[in-house]
Formats: sequence, C-alpha cells, structure tokens
Amino acid sequence: MEAITAVRGTNDLVYAQAARMLALENTLRGIAHKYGYEEIRTPVFEHTELFTRGIGEDTDIVSKEMFTFQDRGERSLTLRPEGTASMVRAFVEHHLFAERGINKIFYTGAMYRAERPQKGRYREFHQFGVEVIGSPSPLVDAEIILFNLDVFKTLGLSGLTLTINSVGCPKCNPAYLAALRETFKNDLPSLCETCRTRYDKNVLRMLDCKVESCQPILAKAPAFSDHLCDECKPHFETVKQELANAGIQFTVNPRLVRGLDYYTKTAFEISANMLGAQNAVCGGGRYDNLIGVFNNGKSFPAMGSAFGLERILLALGDAETKNTIDVFVVAFKETADKLMPTLSMLRAAGRSANADYNVSSIKSQLKTADKLGAKYTLILGPEEAAAGECMLRNMTDKTEKRVKIADAAGMIV
Ligand SMILES: [Zn+2]
Ligand SMILES: [Zn+2]
Repeated sequence: MEAITAVRGTNDLVYAQAARMLALENTLRGIAHKYGYEEIRTPVFEHTELFTRGIGEDTDIVSKEMFTFQDRGERSLTLRPEGTASMVRAFVEHHLFAERGINKIFYTGAMYRAERPQKGRYREFHQFGVEVIGSPSPLVDAEIILFNLDVFKTLGLSGLTLTINSVGCPKCNPAYLAALRETFKNDLPSLCETCRTRYDKNVLRMLDCKVESCQPILAKAPAFSDHLCDECKPHFETVKQELANAGIQFTVNPRLVRGLDYYTKTAFEISANMLGAQNAVCGGGRYDNLIGVFNNGKSFPAMGSAFGLERILLALGDAETKNTIDVFVVAFKETADKLMPTLSMLRAAGRSANADYNVSSIKSQLKTADKLGAKYTLILGPEEAAAGECMLRNMTDKTEKRVKIADAAGMIV
C-alpha cells in the first residue's frame, strides 16, 4: 500500500519550524497590541457567496483559486482565501459599529488558495492582517502603512520598498475606466484572452494580468492620479505627506490596483529582499464601499492590509530556532520509581521537565537531554536518591553539584 502524504501545497511544521512560526506570531501580536489592534477569530470556511460578493467574481482569487465544496446539506461553502471578507462579515453580524467609533482589528490564521505551489506560496498558508473600520481619515491609511513597515523592520527584513497608488472612488472611477478602455481599444487582438474578457467585464482588472506579452501594452495605462476627484486627490496628498513626515521613502505606481475588486482610494504594496530578488510581501488598501455589500447598502469607511507568514519566514532566511527545556531527569533502573514524582515536583515549581520513560542507559539518556536542548540534567543516582538527593548538572558550563531533590527546582535558573 502506498504511504499517505500531506496534500500538495500544504506543510507540516515540525518542532523547531512550529516554534519559529509561533515566535513570529507572538512578535506580530505584540506589535499589533502597541498600535491598539484587537483580535477577531473567524471560522476557516464560510458561505461561498461571502467571497464572490465581497472579493469580486472576476478576480483571480474567486475565478481560479478558491477551494469550494458542497456540504451534506448541499450548501456551497468555501475555505477562506483571504481574511478581510470574514472580518467584515463579523463586524456587521456582531454590530461592532454600535460598540465603538473606530474598530482596529487584527487576525491571523490559515487561508486556502488553489495556486501552483512554489517556494513561499502554498495552498494552505497563514496570513496576518489588520483592518481599521469606521474612519475615512487618510491618517488611518498612513498608520496602517507605518504599522507594516514597523513590523518588517522589527523582524529584520532587508531591502524594504513601499509602493503606493490611489484607485479613486465611484465618483472618479468611471472617467478613469473610460480612459483605460480608450487606451486599449485597438490593442484587443494582441492581448490575452483574460484581458479581452476583462476589457468588457471589469477593465481595471486587466492591470493585474501577468502574461508576458500583455505587459508592454498594459504599460500604456494612464495614471489614476490624473483622474482623481476633489475628495480623492487631497486624501492621497495627505497620505503621501504623512509618510514623508514619518521619514518614509516611497514611489507612486499608477498601475498598482491590487488583486481585489473592493479597493477605493489608497492601495499599497511593500516589497522586501527575498532569495536575492525584490518580492512583494505585503499589500493593502482602503475599501470604503465593501461593508455596504453586506449591510444593506450602509457602508463604513475602512482600510486593511495583510501578509503571508510563510513568505515572511522565507524572506528572513533559515535562522535556526532550537527548542529548549529547563531540565531533563535521568533515572537509574533502581530509582525509576522516583522519576514521575521528580518530574511533577519540577513542573509544579514552574520548570519545563522531560525524561526518558524507557530508562535506557545513562549514556543514552544524557544524549537525549542534549538533543532536547536541556539546560540542566537532574540525575537520580541510587546512592544520592536513597538520601533524598540528586546530582544537578548545568549543561552549559558542565558544572555539577549534589543537592536535595526538593531544592533542585529552586537552583535552576
Ligand atoms: Zn474619487
Ligand atoms: Zn493579459
């Protein structure tokens, strides 16, 4: 019989790898807390309609990448491909708008996309995101960008670059979309099939196309910043001013539209050095009209961002994370009955403790202690144990002393 392996595009995080992920998550939670974000946890599957309506039917995510299935009651469900739609659903469902003026939310968890797996991109991946709901202020846009830069600097990512754009609002959108159609109207035969479909259905999405031969044509796209309305223009100016005030360098990319339909005004992307090349690690944007889609047309201004944790770990390189324990208890056959009480005593005193329950040879037990990264070994020699004592060995400086078993926990630092 063939061995059963993990599904393509999914990963097991074994021991030190899981510890590395946990350490990353802890750092992120700490920084989010500093900025006043609070966590919301939502289920990994939702009604499919949440994503088709929220993200947009014509996006790559919805049209090509979702894991959608029917449950036993023949409802269409989908494993979440991103976090914002779920956060918005939860925001509306729990009437969070009634609780406070501005909601600052963070989330972290597994997301699912049927992409071609490659290094740092998996079908099950983990995302960390923030959303600020309830403020139209450009200060929010600037702070979310600063938050992400703070995160990546704290983590030690190198080669950070920030790209921003404004994708306007329903007021200035039509003029820009018309300008796009005008620009590409004679190029349709040279563009790929997806571009041709999007030209009719959702012309802005054309700018997402990654097909090589489309790139020179798409580069002709006019800049959105030339078409911004009286509301969007000063908004974008303030975002840029706040970033400049904070000493942040950035470039404006008029073709940056992000892969989701719901963005309005500010869109941004942060790249970092990854495997020797510049790669996008984080993106976000304002979505002032999305919440209305789920709230009977009544919207709340909002902005959010997200990044994949696997990609961050890849960008950080293979830093060694080693798990450790405080003490490994070594027993002899004659003192095996003292093993469990000693472990219990150490744990009750707040120390992490482990042992070889097979009571193998002393040499093999010491080897295991080393492998587990034990800071101390507590050796229950027959003669010492008879007197209620043990040998406590510091594994770092290799010093050893004879102490009362009851006192050992207090001597481990
Ligand atoms: Zn506008
Ligand atoms: Zn194309």
